[in-house]
Amino acid sequence: MDIIRKAILFGGKAIVSVVDAKQLANDAINAQGTTGGASEVLARSLAFGAFLSAGIKGTNIKLSISIEGDGSLGKIIVAGMSGGVVRGYVENRSAKLPLLQDGKYDIASGIGANGTISIIKDFGMKEPYMGKSMLVNGTLDADLAYYLTVSEQLPSAVASGAIIGEDGVAKSCGVIVVQPMPNCEDEYLVVLQDIVRNFTDFGQLMIDKTVDEIIEENFGHFECKMLEPIYPRFECQCSQERMDNVIRAIGLKEARQIVRQDGRIEIHCDFCNKYYRYTKSQVEAVFGDIK
Ligand SMILES: [Zn+2]
Repeated sequence: MDIIRKAILFGGKAIVSVVDAKQLANDAINAQGTTGGASEVLARSLAFGAFLSAGIKGTNIKLSISIEGDGSLGKIIVAGMSGGVVRGYVENRSAKLPLLQDGKYDIASGIGANGTISIIKDFGMKEPYMGKSMLVNGTLDADLAYYLTVSEQLPSAVASGAIIGEDGVAKSCGVIVVQPMPNCEDEYLVVLQDIVRNFTDFGQLMIDKTVDEIIEENFGHFECKMLEPIYPRFECQCSQERMDNVIRAIGLKEARQIVRQDGRIEIHCDFCNKYYRYTKSQVEAVFGDIK
């Protein structure tokens, strides 16, 4: 079962979060039909999205992460809700990423080193919070850490990993994030960041250890206090009802026109790759009560 475990360090000077997102990664990979490196990028991005959305207090929170680099995957989109409920996709889901010499996928070729990360947090009132930063190198961890540091003023360390098997199934997927609290002195921060920097193969570590073991073995000696776990999951928010509203927004006249021309109306959900199709009579039914 996927899990997010957080622990407070040094009596409240910093917080470490570890996300095991293997199941939700596989749910997303199955929905999207991605393979290899595209699956790895999708999985790691979703793990980070689960971390971010689980960290926002409130019940009606919406989060969206948009990574727009110049790599072969195109845009990478993750949407989240409170409690670590996420969905996401890569724009070019059939992109194949080359392998590097060490046998890992060339993530940077998929994401691209030039571009931006934008994150919107909508608290359901007033203006949403919007943050944006430049990509550092397109390897994800450095880009996400830089985003948190410059845009949210939290000098953070991030290590993520996902191992995609030959059968296309994610054998592991996770992320660790260490963030300082405002009263955290630099010397504590340096120690914590060094530990995260040493996680050079976080995907393998997620196979070898549980999230609790990772925290206890690496941070247990820093006055470590574990918090209650959170259970993230993949879930698309699309529904027949929502799509009916899309049809209504098109308007009866325009909708009839499309049906005349194409025989039906087809709406695609990018997040779960599902098609909603409306025949002539279904379109009429949607507008049935407002003729
Ligand atoms: Zn959907």
